[in-house]
Amino acid sequence: MKEYFLFFGISLSIIMACHTPQVVQQTPVPKTPVPPTQPKPYAETNALYQQQVQKYAERLSQTPLIDTFGLAQPPFWVGTVNFNMRRPNFVIIHHTAQTSCEQTLKTFTLQRTQVSAHYVICEDGTVHHMLDDMLRAWHAGAGRWGNITDINSISIGIELDNDGKEPFAEPQMNSLLQLLTNLKKAYSIPTANFIGHADIAPTRKDDPSVYFDWKRLADNGFGHWYSETTDELPADFNPSMALRLIGYDMRDTTAVQTVFKRKYLKKVDFRPLTESDKKVLWQVARKFW
Ligand SMILES: [Zn+2]
Repeated sequence: MKEYFLFFGISLSIIMACHTPQVVQQTPVPKTPVPPTQPKPYAETNALYQQQVQKYAERLSQTPLIDTFGLAQPPFWVGTVNFNMRRPNFVIIHHTAQTSCEQTLKTFTLQRTQVSAHYVICEDGTVHHMLDDMLRAWHAGAGRWGNITDINSISIGIELDNDGKEPFAEPQMNSLLQLLTNLKKAYSIPTANFIGHADIAPTRKDDPSVYFDWKRLADNGFGHWYSETTDELPADFNPSMALRLIGYDMRDTTAVQTVFKRKYLKKVDFRPLTESDKKVLWQVARKFW
């Protein structure tokens, strides 16, 4: 009997399969967006990222506000209804000084390194987003720009895969310019606030290297450049004051002059500023009036 029902069942299935009219799909089913590829080696650290973000989400959702920093807690809790997230106001550009993009991704996903960035751009132009723009990456380290001393708190860090001894690849520069365009628009970042790691840490850092094309960035609205240098210098021109006006930390004048020359004159030169160097400085500083 069992065999009969089995035979009957199979036969019915075949008949139904043969006679079921083929449904022609008239409207194409919209494709589900393919999520960005998650390289397998990072599944574990991606989960860790989510856990860490969750910690902050829980803290932010607690009311009355919790006193995590040891500050005196006000006696009355009244939550305002008008607020949003703090937004980055600077972009700091780096070169990785490593030999591959993969090496940098690994470095930024090992807790013992204590370093990170929001974005890593590979030589082929691939952009890896590693941290929400609203969160604080650890890319700047000790540094100063104007009177700002906690650069990580106000900036987006972008790392370019480059060992510091070679030109920056064209696809990489194209991706960088696109990313900067998006960031400038999203957060209304002022033109002057696209700077390099060496700018904020002149005694410790030299990135991005002398190969980096700051003029190309300035031509696209990211950072200032000088227009012409034919003007005579003002009689009372003070190079240190001009550098300070731009934003440099003047505690080591030689280091700052070297950083300035690497960036604006495309030369690695530790000597004092020449007359023509000063003319360039004068023209750059005027953009910061
Ligand atoms: Zn750097």
